[in-house]
Amino acid sequence: MRHTLLFLIVVIWPIASQSQVLAKSSHTIDRTIWPASVERVGQATLLLTLNDAAQHSDCLLKEATTFFQKTEHAIALGESCGLMVVAGKFETTLSELEREFFLAHESFHLLVQMTSGTLAVEYFFVQRPEQGSADYEIAGKFFLDILSYRDICKAIELNRSALTLSVMKYVSNITIFEWPAEYYAYKYINTRHATSPEDYASIRRRFGEFAEYSSGVLVGEWLDEGAPWKDQVYAGESMLDIAAARCNTNWPMEKRLLGKVVSMRAFSSR
Ligand SMILES: [Zn+2]
Repeated sequence: MRHTLLFLIVVIWPIASQSQVLAKSSHTIDRTIWPASVERVGQATLLLTLNDAAQHSDCLLKEATTFFQKTEHAIALGESCGLMVVAGKFETTLSELEREFFLAHESFHLLVQMTSGTLAVEYFFVQRPEQGSADYEIAGKFFLDILSYRDICKAIELNRSALTLSVMKYVSNITIFEWPAEYYAYKYINTRHATSPEDYASIRRRFGEFAEYSSGVLVGEWLDEGAPWKDQVYAGESMLDIAAARCNTNWPMEKRLLGKVVSMRAFSSR
């Protein structure tokens, strides 16, 4: 019995302390992928916490742990302890590639869109329509059509009459914020690790919202075949509007309320 206990102590201890390990790495925006003028040349530090991360003496880890204990949010972006931070809370550990992808995607939000570029403010906090609602179905069909036809112009033509104002709020949130970040992260892992489309697909499936996000990669690569478009995104325009203009459809270009973020606390309690 005593032996068993000793054995358990020896074996369990490293596992228990492993669950408290917080991964740290950093990301600088790759300008060969995103050459648009980024004012804030910075680096984002990544923090990954597992669910039961214990208190830690490091300033960042302490702030992150306290924050994630108080909130249901799984991601926090902003400044903390004098650093730009991307923090994520995950149930399980991520692979090296998943971590790089996650960090590239979130760093794009933080370093390019939120603290350098112009932000279409009103679309920033839009919630996803409730699952099963009409708006959810319409938006979902639009993103799926882009993927299945591999043709943004055709998807716009097929869905434009269904895309009502309330659906467009969510669609704009995705096409203004998520599509550029996803396109950037896709290109980033592809440049660094020569990943295949299947590698990307399995990472995106793990993080969820596959059609919404991966349609942005397809549209971004299609836009790359024509005139430069990234400065328009940097100025707060939607990738969907830019694509629609190229399709020569009669697409209403919305006037958006634009703003700049002055400062952002990563772990502000809500
Ligand atoms: Zn995102």
